[in-house]
Amino acid sequence: MKTNQTEGSPQMRGSMHGKELLPLIKAAGRADRYSENLWKWVRKYRDRPLFVAFSEKDGHSFDETKTLASRLYIGFHRLDDGWLHGSRLSEILSQGTKAESWAYQPGMQFKEIPDWWDKYMEHGKCFIDPEHCLYLDAARWFVEGNVRTCLWCGNFQQREHVQMVAQRDWRPIQT
Ligand SMILES: [Zn+2]
Repeated sequence: MKTNQTEGSPQMRGSMHGKELLPLIKAAGRADRYSENLWKWVRKYRDRPLFVAFSEKDGHSFDETKTLASRLYIGFHRLDDGWLHGSRLSEILSQGTKAESWAYQPGMQFKEIPDWWDKYMEHGKCFIDPEHCLYLDAARWFVEGNVRTCLWCGNFQQREHVQMVAQRDWRPIQT
């Protein structure tokens, strides 16, 4: 792993220092739009450049319309001959600073996503969970009748689905 960064070194494409990310996330405001655990993790590694990569193993490819946190990884510095040193995003989201870091092998077929941090800054947690299936947090939704709207992005709605099951049974005739 390369650690020979100089003071104020030019930013590598797609890779940002934790200490640069923290004020940006804060400035974007509305703290509830952002993951507290990811914030804590970035703060822990504030002195390292951080990049985000997607594992294309088994023919998958990154798709912004899908919730793919379990295939995304945050790495330190940059890919090193295909190796990624870092943590799995889904683990960071659920465990914060307790997420383990490993050296993930080139067989994972990592592909860097250079604009990931920019988009996270812009869209918050809904960029991580565009399908709105993670974060089962009541504070996310504004409910009106049987429709609920995501408060974090303001433009995702779900309709309550109630399945009515027809039931028939036979009872004795009272005479
Ligand atoms: Zn949303």
